[in-house]
Amino acid sequence: MSPAMHNAAYAALAIDRVYLAFHVTPPHLAAAMRALPALGILGVNLTVPHKEAAFRMLKHLSAEAKLLRAVNCIINHHGRLHGDNTDARGLEADLRALGVELKSRLAIIIGAGGAAAAAILACARMGATRIAIANRTHSRATSLARRFRSSRIEIEAHGLDALTDASLLADAALVLNATSMGLTTGTFAPLDCEATPENCFFYDAIYRAEPTPFLNDAIAHGRPHADGAGMLVGQGELAFELFNGVAPPPGVMERALFQRLGRA
Ligand code: NAP
Repeated sequence: MSPAMHNAAYAALAIDRVYLAFHVTPPHLAAAMRALPALGILGVNLTVPHKEAAFRMLKHLSAEAKLLRAVNCIINHHGRLHGDNTDARGLEADLRALGVELKSRLAIIIGAGGAAAAAILACARMGATRIAIANRTHSRATSLARRFRSSRIEIEAHGLDALTDASLLADAALVLNATSMGLTTGTFAPLDCEATPENCFFYDAIYRAEPTPFLNDAIAHGRPHADGAGMLVGQGELAFELFNGVAPPPGVMERALFQRLGRA
């Protein structure tokens, strides 16, 4: 979806540039990155599974990329590659636009990869005081919790069984899926949606034309919900400005994405 979004912004600004998708496999990531200055490419976005590997390969990193230990965009500054991460800011902007209220509340984040780290940062910035991480591999949840622990926020690490813990769910203001669960399998781990408060917000970082498996249950239980389309737009708008030094016109990238997703 990113080429449609970025190219719509170039067209709207009458800038003679193009955004293309390249299929790069993990063994070729280093070579692809080395090629950026040689080819005069202004910048690139990176997606699963390259974000953490690229972080380890880059010398110049923004404070946010260091905090998240993942890079979702690389900017070519006259041959010097600079890693940044716009996922947390993109997600925060979307959650705020959706009216999600996290001040002094509990957020449950499912996952322990780069998207989960971005979600923790976004929730912390929105004032959440308790964050529960639920992940298939418990040790990854524990090390992520350790990284973000602070005096202001209580962070707990759980397995996926936390998603059926009624006492935990009863306090949640937000349940956010930051895993790729449901992307290919079409099913999600058991989650006791009914145990959450009626105004608990369900957010899936995954976006697609039809409701995701994670959101199906929230929809059936009448809970407020959104998929990750808004996060994609938010991170993309910030990346566009980093690559081009100019912000995209408001709404252009969102309209291009929604058109591709078949939304009005
Ligand atoms: P990642 O670093 O590879 O992490 C993947 C996470 O998914 C891990 O927590 C992993 O658990 C979990 N997982 C994968 N398959 C699973 C399964 N079958 N059952 C249970 N857990 C499973 O990926 P990421 O970069 O964080 O991205 C995660 C998701 O967020 C992706 O679907 C991506 O498309 C989405 N995302 C969306 C946006 C947006 O703009 N909307 C931005 C970033 C990411 P283990 O630790 O146990 O392996």
